[in-house]
Amino acid sequence: MIPILVPQLPEAIALIPYLKRIDSSRIYTNFGPLDREFRSRLGQLVNAPGVSLVSNGTTAIELALRSLNPVPGGICLMPSYTFVASAHAVANSGLEPYFLDVDEQSLMLTPEIVKNALERQPSKPAAVLVVSAFGAPLDIDGWDAFTTQTGIPVVFDGAAAIANINRVGLNPICVSLHATKTLGIGEGGAILTSNPELSDHITAMTGFGFTGAARVSQFRGGNYRISEYTAAVGLTALDQLSARISHLMSVAQIYHGALRGKQTVIQEGKGTSWISSTFNVRVPRSDVSGTIERLEKANIPWRRWWGHGCHTHPAFSSAKRDQLPVTEIVSEQIIGIPFHDFLTEIEVREVANCLA
Ligand SMILES: *Cc1c(COP(=O)(O)O)cnc(C)c1O
Repeated sequence: MIPILVPQLPEAIALIPYLKRIDSSRIYTNFGPLDREFRSRLGQLVNAPGVSLVSNGTTAIELALRSLNPVPGGICLMPSYTFVASAHAVANSGLEPYFLDVDEQSLMLTPEIVKNALERQPSKPAAVLVVSAFGAPLDIDGWDAFTTQTGIPVVFDGAAAIANINRVGLNPICVSLHATKTLGIGEGGAILTSNPELSDHITAMTGFGFTGAARVSQFRGGNYRISEYTAAVGLTALDQLSARISHLMSVAQIYHGALRGKQTVIQEGKGTSWISSTFNVRVPRSDVSGTIERLEKANIPWRRWWGHGCHTHPAFSSAKRDQLPVTEIVSEQIIGIPFHDFLTEIEVREVANCLA
């Protein structure tokens, strides 16, 4: 059976030089040398002047929102169409998620959608969480302009977008380094900012709000750090990242060839201008059950990675929301198909044969 996704983290042998450095330094956590090196190399990769490393992508979003010092119970506008982690992070930051519908083409919030929604909000929301759809590039300038015009801060959930970020604007970008993402390190995440002082503040929040050497909490935070072992995996994964990206790009290219002329549509720009670790297509509305039947008959796995939106999860069904007609339609049509570094041309054609 073709797997839907095969996580690929560095092998033991490649980790050894970094692990030996931990043996000699005997520094195992608390912002050690590997942590600092990983932070700086990650910042170079995405052109971010400020980087904070955290325990996972969900806590990255949570801390980025908390760093805004929002009034507890304030509203955070966000799409329902996202991985449910986004909604957990908003709730954990003390804010109330309010679900909006997404743009049918990009599958994301747009500044226009949110500006329209603002007219219906009784008071000014504390923040907007903008989610990159399955790793697609973010509209940095559009959202900077939104924040400048409205005074409402934006936090980007770019959890799957690490390979498609080349700068940071006014608003912080959160990424996930989960094993299933493009730059997988097991569990981990990062908050990317254009403001090194803000990043120092968020990094201090990851270690009990201690700043400098004093064991004094200057502000509230928690323990969200990664250990030196995690940083060792991160540094090794960075060494291997460009090879992994070109490999995934070439597999995506095979899908482009195999789906040419079909009604099933590949997410815009996927495999041509950007890449991530999942591959999602939009199947014709009239053929959703037909497609699923053919895939299952051929023993090919498929996934609705984001299900039918956060509002369909019992944990968030009581959250306030707008009407979500686009979410209802696209969440039915968008399906993830097998995608990983080892997928062969023959396997891609088998998958494509099941798609209309
Ligand atoms: C993966 C993902 C997250 C969660 O990241 P973790 O590192 O698993 O906590 C959040 N939002 C989106 C859109 C994701 O794809």
